[in-house]
Order: sequence, then structure tokens, then C-alpha cells
Amino acid sequence: MLASRIESLGAPSERLFELFVLTHIDADHINGVLPLFANPSLNVRFEDIWFNGWHQVSQFLSVKQGEDFSKLLEDPARSLPWNLAVTPKGEKYPAPIVLPSDNPPPTFELPGGLRLTLLSPGADQLKRLGREWRQVLLQLEPGKAMLGRRRPPAPVTDFAKFDLEALARSPVTKDMSVANGSSIALLAEFDEHAILLTGDAHAEVLVNSIKAVQRARGLENEKLKLDALKLSHHGSANATTVELLALLDCQRYLVSSNGNIFYHPDREAMARVILNGGKRPTLYFNYRSPLNELWDAPALRARYDYHTEYPADGQAGLRVVL
Ligand SMILES: [Zn+2]
Repeated sequence: MLASRIESLGAPSERLFELFVLTHIDADHINGVLPLFANPSLNVRFEDIWFNGWHQVSQFLSVKQGEDFSKLLEDPARSLPWNLAVTPKGEKYPAPIVLPSDNPPPTFELPGGLRLTLLSPGADQLKRLGREWRQVLLQLEPGKAMLGRRRPPAPVTDFAKFDLEALARSPVTKDMSVANGSSIALLAEFDEHAILLTGDAHAEVLVNSIKAVQRARGLENEKLKLDALKLSHHGSANATTVELLALLDCQRYLVSSNGNIFYHPDREAMARVILNGGKRPTLYFNYRSPLNELWDAPALRARYDYHTEYPADGQAGLRVVL
């Protein structure tokens, strides 16, 4: 899908991007990237690539091991840029994309004017990834990843008994996924517009970073104004907390998932967004699935006063104008 989007950009000279971010090494994020980069006919170029591979993670430890995307980025024949934004000239290995321990989240301004503020990962999350690198790589095997497969939620037959408040209140279990925690999450701002791109980052890391950003900006008691929030971890229950939503002034919520395998987005997350996501929030889905179609039910939309957007029939993805 990405390849055809890039091809539609026309002349190869237009296929130059300021930045490519691979948030973390989970299969659902990295699997599409390897064939994309292996396709030379696309003529796509990037001025920088942000990715925390083994060397970035292992400087929190003292072990050595490589893996595919790191190898590809290190291939001298391709001379790809890698974490240039944070690496001092002359360093042997690119530095990690990581939050500083004692300073506010850093902001990077791209030449075209896009400002990116790093909200995840912290050193703790990368340290954990370093410690469990082998284990995490094993979990990348699809067969093993399927072990975490859950049951699909039961269809809703009676909307009068569908208790959104109870779903929103349900206790949040901590996301124990080491790979998710290592996600690069970015607050992207351009002109007066802002979007939070969370990858699969942990809710508590986002909460701490957003508070630190607002403190550094002298807006400690104000909500962070966003035009859109891409829900973390495909709208899973533990990634979208009431505490996180309370820090945001936002009306657009983006769900990136076809619902396969893990049945995302979770109903708890959607319930929290509908009830705690500001006045008349809109839920945007990049797929229409038998599971997420639930949120389009007129009975629910009327009762809770929110909007939904799905891709047009036969179309892949949707464009959100901020
Ligand atoms: Zn994911």
C-alpha cells in the first residue's frame, strides 16, 4: 500500500522525504518496512531515518548482536542516513532516539518547518528492550506472536444494555510489552496544527512526557492542544487511559488497525475516548471491520454525541484534514 502511495507521487525527484520513523521492532510495524526498503524501483529517499536498533539499545548494556533493519541501514553500499538528528559527527554508531533523563522532551525542527517533540521511549524502556532483545526477536515470529491471540468480543445485540460508562471505568492493566514500550512517539507540529503520533507507546510514558512538555512551555495547568491523536497500540485498552485523555484538548481520534489477530481497537479505549475525549469527538478508522463497525451504530452516536469516519467503500485508508 505504501509502495503504491509513493509511486503515485510521480517523478522520482518528488520522492524525497525529510524523515522516516520506524517506531519499534514489533512485527506489525517492521514487516512492511523491510520490503519497502528492499524495493529499489521506488527510488524513495529519506534525509534521516529514526530507528532504535541493536547498537542504540545495547549502549544501555554490554552485549552485541545484530538484526535485519540495522544491517540494512548499516550497508555501506546504500549509505542510508540513520538517527542523524541526534548523532554527533564522527561517531561510529548512530546515537539512540531516547528521552533525556533530566531535561524536558527534546524538539527537532525539520528543514521544511515540521517540529517534532519526542515523547517516548525513555531510557528505562530502551534498557528493558536491550535486556530482552533476543526474547523480543523470538516473539516477532508470527507463530509465537499468535500465542497472545485473544477471543473476539461478543457482538452487541441490545444497545440499551451496552454500558459505555462501565467500559470506560474498567481497570487498566499495565502494558507489559517491552517492544511497545520502546516505541518512538512524536508530537508533530506545523504552523498552528498538532498531531500526536504514538506508535505503540505506553500510556504512562506519554503522560509523563506531555506533562514535562507543558511544564517546559510554561503551560503547566493547560491541556495540550491537538488536532488529532493517533491512539497508541491500535486502540488497545491499556494504551488509552482517562489520565492521558485528561491532558489533551483534542477532538479527532485515529485508530490504525484492521482488527486482525488482536481485535483492536478495544471497546474500553473507544468508551474512554467517547466519554473523556472532549466535546463531540470524532473517531477515525483506517479500515471498516466487522468489529469497529459497532461504533457507527446510530443508537450509540445519538446517545453519546460523537462522530465516526470510515474509508469509503472499496478504498484503502482515509485522509484526515486537520
Ligand atoms: Zn503495533
